[in-house]
Amino acid sequence: MDTITLTKKLTMKKQYDVIVCGGGVAGVAAAVTAAGEGHSVLILEKSNILGGLATLGLINLFVPMCNGRGKQIIFGLCEKWVRLSAEVGFDTIPEEWKNGEPKEPTNVRYIQRFSPDIFALQLTEEIVKSGADILFDCIACEPVMEGKTCKGVITESKSGTEYYGCKMLIDVTGDCDVLRHGGVPVVPGENFFTYMAKMITLESCERAVKEKNIYRAFTGISGGGVNLFGDNQPENVPKWSGLTVEEVTDYLVRNQLLVLKRLKGTDRFAREITHLPFMPQFRTTCRLDGDYALKVSDAYKHFDDSICAINDFEHRDHLFEVPLRCITRKDYPNMLTAGRSASGEGYGWDVLRVIPPAIITGQAAAHTACMALRDKVNAADVNITNLQKKLENDDIMVHFPDEYVPEDKTVVIHGKNAVEIDGGHM
Ligand SMILES: Cc1cc2nc3c(=O)[nH]c(=O)nc-3n(C[C@H](O)[C@H](O)[C@H](O)COP(=O)(O)OP(=O)(O)OC[C@H]3O[C@@H](n4cnc5c(N)ncnc54)[C@H](O)[C@@H]3O)c2cc1C
Repeated sequence: MDTITLTKKLTMKKQYDVIVCGGGVAGVAAAVTAAGEGHSVLILEKSNILGGLATLGLINLFVPMCNGRGKQIIFGLCEKWVRLSAEVGFDTIPEEWKNGEPKEPTNVRYIQRFSPDIFALQLTEEIVKSGADILFDCIACEPVMEGKTCKGVITESKSGTEYYGCKMLIDVTGDCDVLRHGGVPVVPGENFFTYMAKMITLESCERAVKEKNIYRAFTGISGGGVNLFGDNQPENVPKWSGLTVEEVTDYLVRNQLLVLKRLKGTDRFAREITHLPFMPQFRTTCRLDGDYALKVSDAYKHFDDSICAINDFEHRDHLFEVPLRCITRKDYPNMLTAGRSASGEGYGWDVLRVIPPAIITGQAAAHTACMALRDKVNAADVNITNLQKKLENDDIMVHFPDEYVPEDKTVVIHGKNAVEIDGGHM
């Protein structure tokens, strides 16, 4: 039998105002925000914990949330979660930032390396407190489309194949999977040979005991150790889009065998792996081909439809505003994205996709969806002034102050002038 035809009649199990597909940081931010606006919300997560790459993927670092001169740029739920993560898990917030924005200028950047597992538990608590419904171990397979309008989503779980209805859908699967399967135009990315697991050694444990700090017990072991820019990508290893099961498997097998090879011959009484990443550490698989794509040359530009100001995590002073158009697509009236699959190009995408911006674009997507529902307009057509007020009420900086813009705007990214690299992925 070369071809089979699947026919199955599904009755809607439940109707929601907003369905959030994916429980990474962007998804949790979106679900909590939409539920806080009084809407019925369902969040679907294919794994067993929340947090996505930040927890499952062991990327447990809030990259800098400031301009590198002591001024905080990213607030909102991100600020709340940074503090929350430091209350119960590791607290690595620099001394200068322990009590909020420093009174004096400082070059020390505002970061926090958190416990991935404890933060995942805290995200579950956030969802439960918000009143949003959650389904774990449940894959959002594809949207139910009527023309270009989404009517719901088909899920696959222990309960089998089911259909949940929605008025607004936010795809925060990181890979834009649901939008992609619904025919929404997307742009694939390219991923290098990167893989990092957590381990402990006798030496690191001794260090932790000596310093009375359990955080110091952890160290890392890498598979492919290629960085963000693809330096040292081996010639015999492919770059993956991460969008097929074969690619995902090839990436995982190569990396897992490499980690195993590195362990062989080391003293088995002196080390143990504590966590393997439980999702592929792909940075940029696929993003919405949105109404706008954020570029490096957009640095320091004010956008009338900005939903948040963000900062570059590597380069001091380098500031951006994110237009609403990066998470919408005008011809799809009730489908949005946020986080890793927001619309950006090259290094512009890199600045946009990391954990702090992912959280606040998640919040922005939720407010956009809720406002579109209330005002009976398309997501891309919400009243921007009202949306920005909502975001400011959530303590999100919508426009960066002009006094933060440096006189010398030259930024050298990986040895190249920022403008030269615009548009290309590195
Ligand atoms: C190697 C590497 C290093 C990085 N370093 C840093 C760093 O140091 N600091 C930093 O801030 N950022 C870093 N990042 C980026 C950052 O981790 C991510 O961009 C960010 O966490 C993305 O969050 P998200 O919620 O958009 O997506 P994800 O974290 O990808 O979350 C998506 C969620 O959706 C779920 N999901 C996927 N498909 C489905 C489906 N069909 N149905 C239901 N659920 C689904 C997944 O299980 C996951 O929980 C790094 C990324 C990588 C790969």
